Amino acid sequence: MDKEKLEQIKQKALEDKIPIIMDDTLQEIEKNLKKCPPKSILEIGTAVGYSAICFTSFLEKNGKIDTIERDVERAKTAKQNIKEMNLEDKINIYVGDAIEILPTINKKYDMIFIDAAKGKYPFFLKEALRMLSTNGAIFADNILYKGYVMSDYNKHKQRTAVRNLREYIHEVTENPNLETEILEVGDGLAITKFCV
Ligand code: SAH
Ligand code: MG
Repeated sequence: MDKEKLEQIKQKALEDKIPIIMDDTLQEIEKNLKKCPPKSILEIGTAVGYSAICFTSFLEKNGKIDTIERDVERAKTAKQNIKEMNLEDKINIYVGDAIEILPTINKKYDMIFIDAAKGKYPFFLKEALRMLSTNGAIFADNILYKGYVMSDYNKHKQRTAVRNLREYIHEVTENPNLETEILEVGDGLAITKFCV
């Protein structure tokens, strides 16, 4: 992995105000995967490919990543970044809305990273649970959304997002088949696995 190039991609994304994964969130995911490196990763929300590029170093030797992005410009930049990092054989981008693309995928994934429209998290969860392998884990980023989710915040344009993030948390914590940890790293990270 060309660390210098990766740092350039990160700095450019930050300059362009693209909400890339935070360092502590990335570290937490890495820690979680140490014992059992994933063979396959699904990411919802590629942006410019920064997190997907970082995740390639968590993969098992012949592992692969599928990632979905609906913004055509961002997907284009992601492809360019992935090419520059020589990771074209590891990362496949689906360009389009995950709402339409997810139902067409029928694969099992060892790790699923949810990092797209907050108002769609309950739908993404349903699809993720359908495709999660028995020993896999779902990581949902931004689950605490600047603290709004755990406060009595109930206003303005973020209301739908907050309601849907709360619904996500409710589903992963109340389902008896699932085990969930919610961590206050970054903007909040929910880690969900099937009970063993
Ligand atoms: N995972 C990236 C950051 C993703 S930002 C990283 O850490 O580097 C969230 C991205 O999700 C945005 O680029 C946005 O365009 C995309 N997105 C939001 N809703 C989506 C949807 N329904 N389908 C596909 N992509 C979506
Ligand atoms: Mg995020």
